[in-house]
Amino acid sequence: MKGFAMKKIGEVGWVEKDKPDIGAYDALVRPIALAPCTSDIHTVWEGAVGERTDMILGHEALGVVDEVGSEVKDFKPGDKVIVPAITPDWYSDAALRGFSSQTGGALGGWKFSNFKDGVFGEYFHVNVADWNLAHLPEGMPLEAAVMIPDMLTTGFMGAENSNIPLGGSVAVLGIGPVGLSAIAGAELQGAGRIFAVGTRPKCVEVAKAYGATDIVSYKDGNTADQIVEATGGEGVDSVVVAGGGPDILIDAINAARAGSVVSNINYFGTGDTLPIPREGWGVGMADINIATGLCPGGRVRMERLADIVKYGRMDPALMATHVFHGFDKVEEALMLMKDKPRDLIKPVVIVDENL
Ligand code: NDP
Ligand code: ZN
Repeated sequence: MKGFAMKKIGEVGWVEKDKPDIGAYDALVRPIALAPCTSDIHTVWEGAVGERTDMILGHEALGVVDEVGSEVKDFKPGDKVIVPAITPDWYSDAALRGFSSQTGGALGGWKFSNFKDGVFGEYFHVNVADWNLAHLPEGMPLEAAVMIPDMLTTGFMGAENSNIPLGGSVAVLGIGPVGLSAIAGAELQGAGRIFAVGTRPKCVEVAKAYGATDIVSYKDGNTADQIVEATGGEGVDSVVVAGGGPDILIDAINAARAGSVVSNINYFGTGDTLPIPREGWGVGMADINIATGLCPGGRVRMERLADIVKYGRMDPALMATHVFHGFDKVEEALMLMKDKPRDLIKPVVIVDENL
């Protein structure tokens, strides 16, 4: 089979590999729809998780089950599935403690395109299929459903972790597909006022559609100052960090008021340390907490997110600005994600709508 891979740090290309073997609880899946992620860009071009050789990229997929292990009960060949980006080892200490994304060590639930070949292959392996796959609801548009495995689960987690009070104010720093999903999550959680920070016009348009009440450009002056001023000198109840470089926590904390949670979902690809503003953080005593998380995976999470889409609570297809057809287009889609043209939110590849 062929796959599109990270050949080494800074280099991508097509590779030929054997189809993966599966164990008794696993599944072999073929992709129906795929999407590249900004995390793939950090992984390849920043070498953010270290060297990887000929590792097939990608962790956002819908698929069709090709083969299942002898102990798999709820899935059979031909079933269409949502494949979460994060596929934890559910029978582990970390999962039992409630942190399934961190099973087997920090970020250990993130297996595709990190510890094993990802989903940009003609076939890919899914561990513990009954717990990690979800059935794709019939008739759900693929451009919408393919946002569930990573964009929705990550953005919604950002909003959930930021503890937004009903009617409270929230600032979402970064409105790429992850931040936009956080805005939709904040809206679903009952935020009163939602600040969206970013500049790409298409992202701004969708931010408004998802519930943003105020648009802030980080290019028009200090982000925190703009938010503090707009809130009468107070700052916001919650902050979600979904973009920006290593200094972004300075803006996030300076925009937060006492009691706020700064919920980071950004992947910091470079640098050894991240600065926190001493004064803005009340010289360490501001009652401003910082939350972090790798997006939740697993079956139940995917089923709940699918219900949000199925019952029309939000439409993730608004983020699919560039839709390609055919497996080979994965390369073009990934390069688009790297280059981030101004009209891009998220590229999607429909591999085969007839599968
Ligand atoms: P994008 O690159 O599409 O979006 C980044 C956003 O940040 C843009 O809106 C950009 O603005 C904005 N931005 C850039 N600089 C600043 C700044 N100084 N202040 C405020 N905003 C700024 O990224 P994605 O949405 O695809 O991904 C966001 C992050 O989430 C990535 O780091 C990704 O790796 C990570 N991620 C984390 C996951 C997790 O589990 N925690 C899972 C998936 C992704 P502009 O409009 O000007 O471009
Ligand atoms: Zn991702």
